[in-house]
Amino acid sequence: MSASSSRSSSPALAPNSVIGIVGGGQLGRMSAVAAAKLGFRAHILTQDANGPAAQVAHQVTLGAYDDHKALEAFARAVDVVTFEFENISADALDCLAQHCPVRPSGAILRISQDRLAEKTFLSEAEIPLAPWMAVTDHPSLHAAAEKLGFPFILKTTRNGYDGKGQARVYEASQLKEAFASLAPHPLVAEGMVDFACEISVMVVRGTDGTTRCFAPGLNYHRDGILDLTLAPAPVPEETAQRAQALAVAIAEKLDLIGILGVEMFIDSTGNLLVNEIAPRPHNSGHWTMDACPADQFDMHIRAVAGLPLPPTLRHSDAVMKNLVGPDDMVLWPDILATPGHIPHLYGKAEARVGRKMGHVNILFPYGSLPGALGIQDALGPLAEKPDAGNDDA
Ligand code: AMP
Repeated sequence: MSASSSRSSSPALAPNSVIGIVGGGQLGRMSAVAAAKLGFRAHILTQDANGPAAQVAHQVTLGAYDDHKALEAFARAVDVVTFEFENISADALDCLAQHCPVRPSGAILRISQDRLAEKTFLSEAEIPLAPWMAVTDHPSLHAAAEKLGFPFILKTTRNGYDGKGQARVYEASQLKEAFASLAPHPLVAEGMVDFACEISVMVVRGTDGTTRCFAPGLNYHRDGILDLTLAPAPVPEETAQRAQALAVAIAEKLDLIGILGVEMFIDSTGNLLVNEIAPRPHNSGHWTMDACPADQFDMHIRAVAGLPLPPTLRHSDAVMKNLVGPDDMVLWPDILATPGHIPHLYGKAEARVGRKMGHVNILFPYGSLPGALGIQDALGPLAEKPDAGNDDA
């Protein structure tokens, strides 16, 4: 399987061109600000007139993502389209692509939205993955148990974010119930990785095929939601380079235009295994906003607009701490009062449980990022004991 391209030989967008962003959340907000910095106007397609992105955009089209009339009106009003979240249909992107370039393409979204398509694509591209099998029925479920051994993980193919849509299977007696508990079928069965840590790499690819990578970040989760990213990840240089080479290989194979987040496990023997890809700016890349002259949003907008991509310089090491509602918001006054804590709030009205309200970046001199224990000390009350888990926005 290969992803067809929305690549075109069209010239770079001129200043004041309009960048259409599908989705009205915080990633759209930060993309819109990056677009404005580069002299573009952001036009958001969203259903939330007061959402994070609409608050900072030049223009907003209110409409459902499957409303073809709204999609068409939006597409006619912009020069290029990108998207900030993945729960839109790739068909909607195809509809937009009839009117203007869509970057990244609907074909890439189709792959990243479906765990089975994603694993098939990555396997064919010879990207290292945890051992996996498609599970469609009871015979294939038993075959997966035999091949992968216990314990293994069953995952849904769609919408499996924040650690949802998964069941761990420890013994044969749990097979039937685990299979019945997850829907829709087919599912993906995955061997349990004895993983030491999870890192992510943000890779950007331009219309001329130039690729740029940010340093890998090390991710810690709390209650299944990203809590901290340490950048650069404290891993051997050789591992960091391998991780970046994998991200670039995936971007090239996808014929990506725009940015892509690649989440990887490092197992106990140092092997890198790709877990997931996300063709959009990523929460684990927010540290770049204050530690790099051109951050993930600037680079994404540059790629989408056909502008040159500068090297991904990093002038500082950084820790990004997510502010998740409602508990983390009690930290806000302290964050504002602490020199060197760089605050970002997304303008969400209600700090609901598990909702990402903002983040704070804390910079360290280049090359001085303390080890994981030192980070706990450096962050004080901002760093509660992190655990493993997942989150994908
Ligand atoms: P996912 O929804 O695939 O991102 O997985 C959510 C979380 O479950 C990951 O962040 C890991 O902490 C854990 N996990 C997922 N797949 C595996 C695996 N094959 N082996 C061990 N842990 C896993």
